[in-house]
Amino acid sequence: MSDPRIVVGASHAGSELAAKLRQLDPTTPVLLLGDEPVLPYQRPPLSKSWLGDPSAGIDPLLIRNAAAYAAAGIETRTGSRVARIDRDRRRLQLDSGESLGYSQLAIATGARARRLALPGSEQADRAPNFHYVRTLADAERLRPQFTRGARLAIVGGGYIGLELAALAVRAGLQVTVFEAQPRVLARVTAPAMSAFYEKVHRAAGVDVRTGVQLAGFEFDSDRRLRSVLWQDPGGALRSSDVDLVIAGIGVEPNIELAQAAGLVCTPDGLQVDAHCRTSDPSIVAAGDCTSRPVPGQPGTVRVESVPNAVEQARSAAATLCGLAQPCVSVPWFWSDQYDLKLQMAGLSRGHDEVAVRGDPETRAFTTFYLKQGVLIAADAVNRPADFMLARKWIAAGARVDGRMLSDPVAELKGLAIA
Ligand SMILES: Cc1cc2nc3c(=O)[nH]c(=O)nc-3n(C[C@H](O)[C@H](O)[C@H](O)COP(=O)(O)OP(=O)(O)OC[C@H]3O[C@@H](n4cnc5c(N)ncnc54)[C@H](O)[C@@H]3O)c2cc1C
Repeated sequence: MSDPRIVVGASHAGSELAAKLRQLDPTTPVLLLGDEPVLPYQRPPLSKSWLGDPSAGIDPLLIRNAAAYAAAGIETRTGSRVARIDRDRRRLQLDSGESLGYSQLAIATGARARRLALPGSEQADRAPNFHYVRTLADAERLRPQFTRGARLAIVGGGYIGLELAALAVRAGLQVTVFEAQPRVLARVTAPAMSAFYEKVHRAAGVDVRTGVQLAGFEFDSDRRLRSVLWQDPGGALRSSDVDLVIAGIGVEPNIELAQAAGLVCTPDGLQVDAHCRTSDPSIVAAGDCTSRPVPGQPGTVRVESVPNAVEQARSAAATLCGLAQPCVSVPWFWSDQYDLKLQMAGLSRGHDEVAVRGDPETRAFTTFYLKQGVLIAADAVNRPADFMLARKWIAAGARVDGRMLSDPVAELKGLAIA
């Protein structure tokens, strides 16, 4: 029998890639290899609901169940870490020492939580009450500590930190968010959006502290983390007692395997083109581990989102099957906090104009980002119609009058100029 097509990394991208490969070419075997002990599961619910529900099981999280892989003719192997790619011999070496031949290879190794680098971080890593939330195993370890009254410190006011804060405060925890930047979501949204989310979280009872630098940790004799040390915006050193700490300071792409195989990578990810080809055209890659061209943006960008992982996976599978299905759509993302559904389209970096439509006080408004009059991104809070239209306009490179966007009387549909 011929060697299978192998997909390395079993999550949103890997699962979709394997399924699409079998759909496009039902005769070539496909092997999906993942190092986690479970079949691919959805990560977004971990920070939105799963942790807050002690009875929630794993099955509803699975992207596909075992029967679906079997029915599609996909062989899955969990707990299998690929240690090395030998491109010349088309073989993979697993951590277990086993060697596997492949006919074609797809890399979907994703990303891992960025570790804190502070005095005491290494000791924190060993503390039973210090957490990251990237994997189901992380969430399973954390969930028993997610209890009413517990004092929780969240390091990082990005989407995941804020989603966890919303979940925790509703579960009755006492939550403090420590953010080093002067505002939450500073890397990804406009000041109006940050101000809105800070206000919402404070009203819900979250102690949001911005512009603070963490200075370190203190531990009990039993190695539990007892307090976080931080510097307030005035430079004074302060200490907060905690029962648990979650660090949510972003992710780093898992590119070491590809790098060691000589594939072109930058610190931002494994470089791929619009067809998900790596620098070795016979190897494709998809998802959080990659950095890809995004229409309207210079160079390549690493897009961390489920829709991107799925779209790239489909494109990568098509490429391996000799078809062309370039990945050219507008990146989009969502975040659920309280009763707020935030939907983001496009990438706002490089914008020179911001227009806010609607009143944040009503908990339904949209922030539009323009560059030289062209709409490049939008963040819509509880306004799905704005989001849908914005996605269309961004894809089309539409010019829009920013002042009209902010005018509540002007009907949105008619505002694109060209
Ligand atoms: C808590 C949380 C909430 C999120 N919420 C949202 C959201 O609301 N909306 C959204 O769009 N996105 C969200 N994301 C991001 C989204 O989950 C990621 O963009 C998505 O998981 C990327 O999928 P991926 O398959 O590329 O990579 P990953 O999900 O990172 O999976 C890569 C897999 O490959 C495995 N792997 C790595 N190296 C090897 C190796 N050498 N051998 C074998 N296996 C290997 C990894 O262990 C992992 O299982 C969230 C993420 C988290 C953690």
